[in-house]
Amino acid sequence: MRRRFIADTFSPATGHPTRAALTGEQAAHLARVLRAQPGQVYDIVANGFLHRAEIASVRAASGDQDAEVAFTLHEELSSDAALPIHLLLAVFKFDHFEWAIEKATELGVARITPILARRTEKHLALASEKRAARWRRIALESSKQSRRTDIPEIADPIPLAAALARETAPLRILLSETEQSLTLAAALSVSSNEQRTTNNGQPSLALAIGPEGGWTPEEISQFSTHNWTHVTLGPRILRAETAAIAAIAIASAHLA
Ligand code: SAH
Repeated sequence: MRRRFIADTFSPATGHPTRAALTGEQAAHLARVLRAQPGQVYDIVANGFLHRAEIASVRAASGDQDAEVAFTLHEELSSDAALPIHLLLAVFKFDHFEWAIEKATELGVARITPILARRTEKHLALASEKRAARWRRIALESSKQSRRTDIPEIADPIPLAAALARETAPLRILLSETEQSLTLAAALSVSSNEQRTTNNGQPSLALAIGPEGGWTPEEISQFSTHNWTHVTLGPRILRAETAAIAAIAIASAHLA
């Protein structure tokens, strides 16, 4: 398999071959460790698409900041599909939340929407809008590290009602610490193959995880109103980030 990188810059140009470049640390690594030379071929993700790409020039600077490896992009290659999962993740303590974004990206989810739940702490809810840029950087870094060919979309944080109103996934599953009997695995095995896989290119499965304090009874009934299936991950109360990772892992086994 050819080495794969996500480009730092992309310059579309009409009439000329399209260029993309790696800069900074990525470029320095390529130049020094992998001894990049013009003419070598790599797989480059640029502007959301995977291409076969040829090195056009290498600038190995003394400081990593100035290093640059420029590529000419050739034909587009088919990229590996993300898991068709939309994770609705209630905002909780930022260090744990960031960990959850990183791990969900590694596991392959297509989209994450941070939810301002009733029990999301006030100061976290207030700070979350500004945090979205940082969450997107974490998703980008984690995509690079895990060699994803796409980067999950991190939506702006929104209140639960808005998220429920706009959800289009045919399979909608609420992870609920109060559900006693129906497991996530059981809910997925009774769903149809069509439900699991089709939604016009949009994620077919939505998974919702509550904040540290859990969902309120009103929120749980809002989910019911929108026909979400309530499931349990077992008798133990998991931290929200553990519940998110476990749910994605279980779901991915059923989506394969
Ligand atoms: N404070 C709550 C627990 C919240 S756990 C309490 O003590 O009761 C945070 C979130 O993780 C929950 O809202 C739920 O979405 C998920 N979760 C945790 N354990 C779970 C389990 N056993 N089954 C399903 N979801 C769970």
